[in-house]
Amino acid sequence: MNGAHFAFTDRWGGVSAVPYEELNLGGAVGDDPGAVRTNRELAAKSLGLDAAQVVWMNQVHGADVAVVDRPWDSASRIPSVDAVVTARRGLALAVLTADCTPVLLADPVAKVAAAAHAGRPGMIAGVVPAAVRAMTELGAEPSRIVARTGPAVCGRCYEVPAAMRAEVAAVEPAAHAETSWGTPAVDVTAGVHAQLERLGVHDREQSPVCTLESGDHFSYRRDRTTGRLAGYVWLD
Ligand SMILES: [Zn+2]
Repeated sequence: MNGAHFAFTDRWGGVSAVPYEELNLGGAVGDDPGAVRTNRELAAKSLGLDAAQVVWMNQVHGADVAVVDRPWDSASRIPSVDAVVTARRGLALAVLTADCTPVLLADPVAKVAAAAHAGRPGMIAGVVPAAVRAMTELGAEPSRIVARTGPAVCGRCYEVPAAMRAEVAAVEPAAHAETSWGTPAVDVTAGVHAQLERLGVHDREQSPVCTLESGDHFSYRRDRTTGRLAGYVWLD
């Protein structure tokens, strides 16, 4: 699509052992670092990417954004942010999740891309609007931005205490949800899409996959000790 590429992994096709089987792409979940490195190479290769040209984040459930034009110098230099933005073609941006909502954005005309990690705290803190603002500072137009959200825990599964739902809904009413068994819940992805709609980002698609319900995806709420999925965005 006009040179914008979006991809989301599932848990298969990698080398990690139980409970990270198979394609764990997260480096901070207790898995063997060598397996993670191999998995990142396998995933990049399957997407036609150079693993050395993939930008990862140290995600902290905040709303800070980093603008990047090349890979980080070393693992110790990876900033604690929940969104990365680039105007560099061919540089892939990656976001790690296991229930949180991975958000990929690209303006194929301005050639500006962003990846954001939106869990409940990040969605409330506005990490996605912050990423869109950073994109517009690099020349992107919201009306041209293509947005894709990946596999995440759905609003029918993400049970929270009533007070927490009220707190979230006070900030983002669209995130107000109820579980399939009738208790208070939060729909983070619905919140993200409402935020994007208000910003004028209309070209949006949402993955139908609920990580908690899918045996093909990692889910932190389901398994606690588990791997991480990745979403990748890049522009030709
Ligand atoms: Zn679900």
